[in-house]
Amino acid sequence: MKKSSQGAPPGSKGVGLFGGTFDPVHHGHLRAGEEIRQAFSLSWVEFLPARIPPHKTDQPLTDIGHRVAMLRLAVDGNPYFRVSEVEATREGMSYLVDTLKAYREHYPSDVSMYFIMGMDSFQEIATWHRYSELFSLSHFIVITRPGYERPELSEVVSQDVASHFAPYGGESDCLEHTGGHRIYFRETTLLDVAASRLRTWIREERSVRYLIPERVWDYVQENGLYANTRKD
Ligand code: ATP
Repeated sequence: MKKSSQGAPPGSKGVGLFGGTFDPVHHGHLRAGEEIRQAFSLSWVEFLPARIPPHKTDQPLTDIGHRVAMLRLAVDGNPYFRVSEVEATREGMSYLVDTLKAYREHYPSDVSMYFIMGMDSFQEIATWHRYSELFSLSHFIVITRPGYERPELSEVVSQDVASHFAPYGGESDCLEHTGGHRIYFRETTLLDVAASRLRTWIREERSVRYLIPERVWDYVQENGLYANTRKD
C-alpha cells in the first residue's frame, strides 16, 4: 500500500468519527468535518455526541435528545455526514475507549477509523479514561489552528506512551504508533466559534445567526434552548 500522510491510504475505506458535546453544533464543527473528510478521502464523517461527556460533568448539558436533533438538522443534505447515537444511547459515562471498541467490532477490519478532535481536546487526552488504549483502536486527526505551535507528544501524553510513536513517512505532522495507527495534525480553516460563547450570547439575547445552521437556530428558538438556564 502506498504511503501517504495526506490522507487515508489510497484504496482504503476510512470513516471519520467526530466526537463532542455539540451543545449546540455550530459551523466550526461542520466546516472542520467537511475539510477533514475531503482531505482524507473519508467515506463519511459521523458526528458522535456524548450523552455524558466525562470532562464536562461540572456543567449542565442540554438533553441529549435535543443535541441529537440539532445535529440531524445540521447534517441534513450532506450525503457525507451522519449522526451516530452510539454514545447518545449508552448508559453511564461516554468513554471514548468503549465507543471505539464498539465501532471496531461493528466495522469490518478493512475499514479504518479516524477519530477527529480539536487540539484543545487533544491536549487533555492524557486525562481520558484508559487513554493509552485509544491509539491501538483508531487513527486520530487533530485539528490545529493556522500558525499554532504544536506541542511535542511527550508534553501531552506520558513518556511511556509517547515512546511508542515515531514520525511517519518523514512527515512532521504525522506520528505512527508501533501498532500501526497514526496521529495526523491538520490545519483547517479557522472559524472562531465555540458552543460556550453561543450559549452565552443566546442567553443574552444576542444574535447567533450565521454561526449555526439556520434550521438549528430555528430549533433552538422553538424549544427555548439556552434562554435562561445556562450560566457558563
Ligand atoms: P464548548 O465551547 O462548550 O467547549 P465546543 O464548541 O468546543 O464547545 P465541543 O462539542 O466541545 O464544542 O467540541 C467537539 C469537538 O470539536 C472538540 O474536539 C473541539 O476541539 C472541536 N471544535 C470545537 N470548536 C471548533 C471549531 N470552531 N473549529 C473546529 N473544531 C472545533
